[in-house]
Amino acid sequence: MTKPRQTVVIVGAGIGGLTAALAFARHGAEVFVLEQAAELKEVGAGLQITPNGLRVLEHLGLQDAIGAASIAADAVVPTDALTGQAITRFDLTAQSPRYRFFHRASLQGLIGRAAQAAGAQIYLGARATSVSQDGIVQTTNGPMRGDVVVGADGIHSITRTFCDPSASEAKFTGQVAWRGVVPMQNMPAQAQIWMAPHRHVVTYPLKDGLLNVVAIQERQTWAEEGWNHADDPENLRHAFADCAPALREVLAHLETPNLWGLFRHPVASRWTHGPVALLGDAAHPTLPFLAQGANMAIEDAFVLADCATKAPTIAEGFARYQALRRPRVVRAIETANANARNYHLTGMARGVAHLGLKTLAAVAPNAFLNRLGWLYDHDVTA
Ligand SMILES: Cc1cc2nc3c(=O)[nH]c(=O)nc-3n(C[C@H](O)[C@H](O)[C@H](O)COP(=O)(O)OP(=O)(O)OC[C@H]3O[C@@H](n4cnc5c(N)ncnc54)[C@H](O)[C@@H]3O)c2cc1C
Repeated sequence: MTKPRQTVVIVGAGIGGLTAALAFARHGAEVFVLEQAAELKEVGAGLQITPNGLRVLEHLGLQDAIGAASIAADAVVPTDALTGQAITRFDLTAQSPRYRFFHRASLQGLIGRAAQAAGAQIYLGARATSVSQDGIVQTTNGPMRGDVVVGADGIHSITRTFCDPSASEAKFTGQVAWRGVVPMQNMPAQAQIWMAPHRHVVTYPLKDGLLNVVAIQERQTWAEEGWNHADDPENLRHAFADCAPALREVLAHLETPNLWGLFRHPVASRWTHGPVALLGDAAHPTLPFLAQGANMAIEDAFVLADCATKAPTIAEGFARYQALRRPRVVRAIETANANARNYHLTGMARGVAHLGLKTLAAVAPNAFLNRLGWLYDHDVTA
C-alpha cells in the first residue's frame, strides 16, 4: 500500500532548514518553510563547506550551481599570526569533492531556489511561537499543521525546548567573533588560520574579489542582548595590533565588521518528540573552529528526510535519525572545541605545537586529511 503524502512544516530557513525542505520535497512531501526574517539575506559572511556537506548538496542535484557560486580550496595554511610565517600547508587538491568557499547568502539562495523548484513553499516574516504534540505550529501568521515538524530554528530554538525541556539555555563560551569581508583580488584559494595567544583569525577568498575574515578573541563577558552587532573596526584592529603586517593590512580594510558572541549548550539529549525533530544548531550549536556547523546541519537534513520518509512509521524514522546522527555530531563538536584550545596556545606550548605541526607535515604530508578522514570522507547519502 502506498503511504499518504506527508506534510512537513519546517521552522527556520537557514542552511539546515532549506536543505531539509529540498530533501523532503525530493521525497514527494508537501513542504512549508516558516522563516521569521522578512527576507533571506546575510551580509558579510562566508562559509566553508567541506566534502561531507558537499556530497549531500551534489546528491540533491546542486553540483552545477555549487560550481558557479563558490571557490574550490587548494589548501589550509596554519600561520603564526605574530610573525606572519606559514607554519605548514595542508594540500586539499586531492579531495573529491573538493572543500569549497561560499558566500553564505549565495549558498542559502541556491538551496532555497532548488527547494522552491522542487515544490517547497517558503513563508517569510512568519515567526513560529510554539509547537504542540499534534503537529500544530502557532505562527505570527496563524497556525499550520505538519505530519512532521522540523525544528531548524538555530541556536535560540523554540522547538528545542519542546523536544528537550530539560535543555539548558545557551551559555557564553568566553569567545567573540568578528566577521566581515574585505575587497581583495587574486587571493590564493586557501584558508589561512592566523594563530596568536588567546585569539586567531581565519581568512579565505570568496567569489567576486572578496576575502572573508573571521577573527576570534577570548573575552570574560558578553553582556549585550542578541548575537550579531555592528562593531567599531578599531576594536578589532586593536585586538590584533601586535600581529604581523600582512594580517594587520587585511584588518585595516575591514570597515563594517559584525561582532558575534559565541554561545554553546550541550548537544540535546532528545532530538525528537512526537511529530517534531530538531536539526542543525537547534539540536547542537557548533563552534566555528572546524567549520562544521552548517555542514552538520546539511547532513542532519538529508538523513532526517531519508529516515522520516522511508521508515514504516515516523517514530521509527526519528529514532533511526537520532541514532545515526548524535554520535557523529558529538565527535565533530569535541574536535572543534579542541581546535579552539590549540589555536590560542601561549608560551612554550605554542612553540612546541607549531614545531609539531611542521614536523608532522614533513614526515607525513597527508596526516591532516587522514586525521579528519572520519569527518570529510563520510557520505551520508551512501
Ligand atoms: C563566525 C562563524 C563562522 C562560521 N563558519 C562556518 C563554516 O565555515 N562552515 C560551517 O559549516 N559552519 C560555520 N559556522 C556555523 C554555521 O553558521 C551554523 O552552524 C549554521 O548556520 C547552522 O545552521 P542552521 O540552519 O541550523 O541554523 P541558522 O543558520 O541559525 O538558521 C536558523 C533560521 O531559523 C530562523 N528562525 C529562528 N527562530 C525562528 C522562529 N521562531 N520562527 C521562524 N524562523 C525562525 C532564523 O531567522 C534563521 O534563518 C560558523 C558560525 C560562526 C558564528
